[in-house]
Amino acid sequence: MIFWQQIMTETALANLQNLYRIFTVPEAPESTLGAVDQAISENVADFLQKHIVALEQSLEEIENDFSVSKIPEEPSFVSEYADFLKQKLVAQSVHTAAPGFVGHMTSALPYFMLPLSRIMTALNQNLVKVETSKAFTPMERQVLAMLHHLIYRRDDNFYAQWIHDSQHALGAFCSGGTIANTTALWVARNQLCGPNGSFAGIAKEGLFKALQHLRCSGLAILVSRRAHYSLGKAVDLLGIGRDNLILVDTDVDSRIDMQSLKSEYTKLRKNDLCPLALVGIAGTTETGHVDPLDKLADFAAEVGCHFHVDAAWGGPTLFSETHRYLLKGAERADSLTIDAHKQLYVPMGAGMVLFKDPHALSAIEHHANYILRHGSKDLGSHTLEGSRPGMAMLVHAGLSIIGRKGYELLIDLGIEKARQFANAVNAHPNFELITAPELNILTYRYNPAWLQEKMVQLDREQLQTINQLLNLITQEVQKRQREAGKTFVSRTRLRSSGYPDEQISVFRAVLANPLTTEAILAAVLEEQCAIVKQTEVQNLIEKIKHIVA
Ligand SMILES: *Cc1c(COP(=O)(O)O)cnc(C)c1O
Repeated sequence: MIFWQQIMTETALANLQNLYRIFTVPEAPESTLGAVDQAISENVADFLQKHIVALEQSLEEIENDFSVSKIPEEPSFVSEYADFLKQKLVAQSVHTAAPGFVGHMTSALPYFMLPLSRIMTALNQNLVKVETSKAFTPMERQVLAMLHHLIYRRDDNFYAQWIHDSQHALGAFCSGGTIANTTALWVARNQLCGPNGSFAGIAKEGLFKALQHLRCSGLAILVSRRAHYSLGKAVDLLGIGRDNLILVDTDVDSRIDMQSLKSEYTKLRKNDLCPLALVGIAGTTETGHVDPLDKLADFAAEVGCHFHVDAAWGGPTLFSETHRYLLKGAERADSLTIDAHKQLYVPMGAGMVLFKDPHALSAIEHHANYILRHGSKDLGSHTLEGSRPGMAMLVHAGLSIIGRKGYELLIDLGIEKARQFANAVNAHPNFELITAPELNILTYRYNPAWLQEKMVQLDREQLQTINQLLNLITQEVQKRQREAGKTFVSRTRLRSSGYPDEQISVFRAVLANPLTTEAILAAVLEEQCAIVKQTEVQNLIEKIKHIVA
């Protein structure tokens, strides 16, 4: 146990000794923090199950524990802090690894990620430059090459030439899909507005001069309505403007509609905008659908713009020999985003963007004198972020330990489970499947069979009224289920083939946790049925009955 307080009371030498101790002596296992640590190491699933106590407190109540805005003046005991941590933070966090927690893209981790994370923290490498990372730099470059190969499947000579080339990088490792997407569009922007004749490029002269040089009034990015909100942030940041992120309508299956894409393109040309990039989505965040990537690649080639694929979620589908064809055309992307903290089962904070052309990242290359020198292998010269942790080690471990076949199994299982769940929803008398899973995400809602039958005969106005009531039911059930803390699905609003005229509220299930069983999924539905029986929800059902009677 470390007596931080002694630092304040003992002699100067003792102060210094104590100061040294917190940087050298590990916590004894019998101390509270050591005990927490040991319990987690022994059985993480058990620990989370025992110590995260459902959501008994409201967020407002929890805020009371975190409302002091002054930094503590006096040092305290580590063990005191550990008590606080256990009771106030761990207990009131979210059990994302629970097999019944099927609402978000965050799920369970393989156990070895935990000791690996400790090792990573202990080593505290900084990937911005070789001087603070040494072997970690080639290791990260290898990870980027492996993912590059997963997508682009170039031959051995290609990788032998580029993997450790000091002037180039096959991609950029970053904290997640948002930075990956931003980096991809940054590269596309700097390539389109690169140095040309007397124009020194957008990186040097800025957007205004770039537009003058291109003789257009703005840049535009085309993507379907199902685009992740990170693209909105990226266009804002890159000076392109949110108005110029053009959201193209989708077909009934939630994929970008090629006809609408063409007419949006014609329109933007008429408006004097220059197409910067076309973005295809491989696994939309809401429904998990994949855009027709081959057709998008054709179109991007035809109009001559950058083709980016946002495969933050769906990218690892490429591991599966069975389902890989769904992403056909991804290998034609100029750039592609993959999140490691989603379907590579790595802890939060790991994403990547890969580039088909090893020269692409030169468009954002940045050098500084004290680090990132020309000709060095420093990865920081090709990344948006500066100091970065050695997260690539966890991806490297996952790829090495789980292997291509292991990830294939995880992907295949998830897709299979989503199909089974969709069948269960379809077969259930109280539920309606809204979007069938293409990958491992599906949406559905509470809508009993008797009502579904009646709805077919209703006119548009009546249908809208009923849908509004059903929306309230979905919202109420989802909220109550989340608060009860036993199982969890998320909720979104979307148009679907069954209801093309309006957005409806739906439950969203993401089947990525290998420990989720059919029985647990059945329990999710049963819990929802039980919530529907509660008075407030029954009142809404009575209203519906009254309307369709
Ligand atoms: C999750 C996701 C992102 C954003 O990734 P973060 O890691 O949350 O920054 C972008 N696009 C898609 C399709 C996603 O699913």
